Amino acid sequence: MTAQRIDGNALAAGIRAEVAARTQRLVAQGLQPGLAVLLVGHDPASEVYVRHKVTDSQEAGFHSVLQRYPADLSQAALLGQVQALNADPRIHGILVQLPLPAHIAPHTVLAAIDPAKDVDGFHVANAGALMTGQPGFVPCTPLGCMKMLESIAYPLRGKHAVVIGRSNIVGKPLALLLLQQDATVTVCHSASTDLKAISLQADVLVAAVGKPRLVTADMVKPGAVVIDVGMNRDATGKLCGDVDFEPVCERASWITPVPGGVGPMTRAMLLANTLEAAERVAGWVS
Ligand code: NAP
Repeated sequence: MTAQRIDGNALAAGIRAEVAARTQRLVAQGLQPGLAVLLVGHDPASEVYVRHKVTDSQEAGFHSVLQRYPADLSQAALLGQVQALNADPRIHGILVQLPLPAHIAPHTVLAAIDPAKDVDGFHVANAGALMTGQPGFVPCTPLGCMKMLESIAYPLRGKHAVVIGRSNIVGKPLALLLLQQDATVTVCHSASTDLKAISLQADVLVAAVGKPRLVTADMVKPGAVVIDVGMNRDATGKLCGDVDFEPVCERASWITPVPGGVGPMTRAMLLANTLEAAERVAGWVS
């Protein structure tokens, strides 16, 4: 068996085109979606992510604001900036790039963002909404993974989904989304014993760990759908996921590549969430 690829680049391009078209309609009504990105310090990976977010939002036709601050910015000053953006009617989405410098408590900063502008979906109000099945913003990466499963019309009901990784931004919200779709969900983490025995039961296997080649072919049930969230550099500096791609392709039915899989979908879902925030203000979404 050679797995079919779920092409994140192509799917994301479609979502971006739809966002741009809906943005034009909103702008014609006098409301331009606005996204503010705050970057504290000079983490090299964060610099790249932030640059993408700014160019993506400009290309979508958004009002795009990038606020850069030195690594020694005080927490109080950052909270002040967040409050100002909460009150700014031109801004519909606020994103504070993580990680923050050690002297700033991320939970305090995320809690200061107006949940209606929390397009990353990290505020406890949005996390609670997801937990209880209420409307809210869902974190972009898990949302992108669900769109990928939707794109292959995969029937999750009654299937066993195994999520490796339990972070607040990927593993846990994705587990809840899979549960909402009636999958039976197992979440694994660093203290899980015999990962292989669990992963071999997965009809849908998600790797969200950050370890190259953690998922090897002998851990994959024949015919499984494999979603690789990991973004790592291999020994040669090449971008790779958590899945040993080529051998796993011989076992899986569908697989997401890295690069060109979950990454572009995450970027596209940030645009979709920001547009939705603006459409809610316009009364187009309840
Ligand atoms: P994280 O916060 O570091 O969480 C990693 C998770 O993996 C933790 O729950 C950890 O368990 C678990 N883990 C570590 N070693 C394990 C092992 N040997 N077996 C099973 N579980 C293990 O990472 P994250 O933010 O969720 O990101 C995960 C990966 O996805 C990273 O490579 C990141 O770069 C990537 N990512 C990609 C995108 C994208 O758009 N493509 C977006 C976000 C993240 P404990 O909880 O027990 O520590």
